[in-house]
Amino acid sequence: MRELERDFPDRPDTACPPRALKLAVVGIGRAGGAVARAAAEAGIEVTPAGRRDALEACLASEAAILSVPDDEIAVAAEAVSGAAGALRFAGHLSGAGGLELLAPLHARGTELFSLHPLQTLPDAEASLAGAWCAVTGSSRASIEFAREICERLGMRPFEVPDEARAAYHAAASIASNLMIALEESAVELLERAGVAQGREALVPLVLRSAANWADLGPGALTGPIVRGDETTVAMHRAAIATTAPELSGAYEALAERARGVARSTATPPGSIEAGQAGIDRLAASVPAPDPGRPLLVRSKAELDAALSPARAAGDSIGLVPTMGFLHEGHRSLLRAARDRSDVVVMSLFVNPAQFRPGEDLASYPRDEAGDLAAAAADGVDIVYAPRLDEVYPEGFATAVKVRGGLTDVLCGDPARRGPAHFDGVTTVVAKLLSSVRPMLAFFGQKDAQQAIVVRRMARDLDLPVEIVAMPTVREPDGLAMSSRNAYLTSDERRRAPALYAALSTARDVALTSGDLGRGLTAARRLLAEAGVQPEYLEARDAEDLSAVSELGSKPVLVALASRLGSARLIDNIVIESEVTG
Ligand code: AMP
Repeated sequence: MRELERDFPDRPDTACPPRALKLAVVGIGRAGGAVARAAAEAGIEVTPAGRRDALEACLASEAAILSVPDDEIAVAAEAVSGAAGALRFAGHLSGAGGLELLAPLHARGTELFSLHPLQTLPDAEASLAGAWCAVTGSSRASIEFAREICERLGMRPFEVPDEARAAYHAAASIASNLMIALEESAVELLERAGVAQGREALVPLVLRSAANWADLGPGALTGPIVRGDETTVAMHRAAIATTAPELSGAYEALAERARGVARSTATPPGSIEAGQAGIDRLAASVPAPDPGRPLLVRSKAELDAALSPARAAGDSIGLVPTMGFLHEGHRSLLRAARDRSDVVVMSLFVNPAQFRPGEDLASYPRDEAGDLAAAAADGVDIVYAPRLDEVYPEGFATAVKVRGGLTDVLCGDPARRGPAHFDGVTTVVAKLLSSVRPMLAFFGQKDAQQAIVVRRMARDLDLPVEIVAMPTVREPDGLAMSSRNAYLTSDERRRAPALYAALSTARDVALTSGDLGRGLTAARRLLAEAGVQPEYLEARDAEDLSAVSELGSKPVLVALASRLGSARLIDNIVIESEVTG
């Protein structure tokens, strides 16, 4: 796209002074109407025409603009080709279409042009004044003619070669139509999050952002991405996945673009950048990676030694227990821990006690080097990766068991993983809590039952720790991230998003109909259609896991497990009915 080498509104030397001109405008829709009106105001003798009188109008004019929908231009050109003898110039207003659409006229000697106002025209009254206008032509004379029309209509012409039209139009579309789609996506997300005044509330923000961009170009980019605050991005990702999962793909794609823009505007080393954006950017870039971090320790003695300075200083410790093979779900916990604690400890231990015989203990995916790199990137201070005999030395004879109906339902049902699975979890978590002595321990809502059981253990045993449950992080198509997703074949991976789709359907149908049973039925139907057989799909009280059959005043956990090939996947969603606010 090349702008003509002169400043608007000076006229080029080659352009004719305003002159009498007879122009037929065929098709009086929004664009045609706006052009016809502006042309008449500019002193051009305009003959507006519809399909029936198009030929007649063209015969009486020296130039014509075919302002019909793109897929009708070729037909309209054919229809008026009988006027080629009268028409010196014929053009169209298509953004993406080339001049070949007007071939029947060109074949009979008419020079061709196109002009596309780079302006949104919501109605025929819309003003073209001040807009830029893409012009092209089949000859220098027709290009000059298109420029003349533009200028007389108060627009600023610039040339776009015919072969670049589609790319030009795609750019225009991104800047205007897709921006509307973007704003409406933001409105929808706000509404789903319960903010009724979404559109009105966004208007000042959108207008100011647009004005900043006009002034500063890419330098107008602000927010978590330019600050490198991927924790906040992960929180956005998780919130979108649960609130409006259909927006996840758009969010990820635009976030990636924003990273690219941020990189392109990054401050070169040594230069000084004023303002809050500069301070934010410097703050994000300052902490140099510490080559000694994270410290890898494999015994309680080493762990104690590593933690003793922090304990002496009264620093807060955050613990993230994991079985490794880290993905973004784990990493969202690490970043939350980093945000809320002085010292972050990640444990890395594939706990045999929570696997049943025949489960995937031996094949559980492991990648300690990758996990250490991810831990370093997320600011973990200490990785505690104990050997098996450090956790379960010879003679080990104790188990921590939570009951109260929390561990013999859902995954704890004796026909499934059984209560022993949770006994394995609570025993190892109790040991980790007592070895690390954190103020905060972070768990994922993805394993909702586990978080509930651990929280009850901490409460019942008066453990001085706050159990923090973080939202489930999902793939763009809604699949909850899990180390076990690595087991999925490509066909199973294609079917796997049905789990979250079913849970979302259960929530949406239950909320709109007020009938939890209908929600579960709709979810079962969706799973069946996707060829996914649930091991269980149940609604339970989100705090005590008691069975519930209808929506009430308390949050309802809808939990789902399903085996896809060798992977057993679990997922859940919480329905907060309106009564709970
Ligand atoms: P694991 O390594 O599977 O034992 O998981 C370690 C922690 O990460 C547990 O608290 C999980 O609930 C949590 N987690 C696993 N997947 C996700 C996810 N997709 N989103 C958020 N947290 C997760």
